[in-house]
Amino acid sequence: MAPEVDMMVCRSCGNQERASEGSPCDGCETFVCLICGFRGITLCKACRVKRGLPEPANLPPPVPRQPS
Ligand SMILES: [Zn+2]
Ligand SMILES: [Zn+2]
Repeated sequence: MAPEVDMMVCRSCGNQERASEGSPCDGCETFVCLICGFRGITLCKACRVKRGLPEPANLPPPVPRQPS
């Protein structure tokens, strides 16, 4: 039984999160995950660079993929 989970790579923190729970980037509307949203991060990495913003100190750390 293949799990039909809509995982997407967050363009802010790089983690794979549920696409349905994330929100679009304020700048380019690419996928930004729910965890970033909770932390007040609403821009993807590319938009931060474009705007000359520093990486947020509270950016979620990369989650190692668990082999199942
Ligand atoms: Zn994220
Ligand atoms: Zn963006």
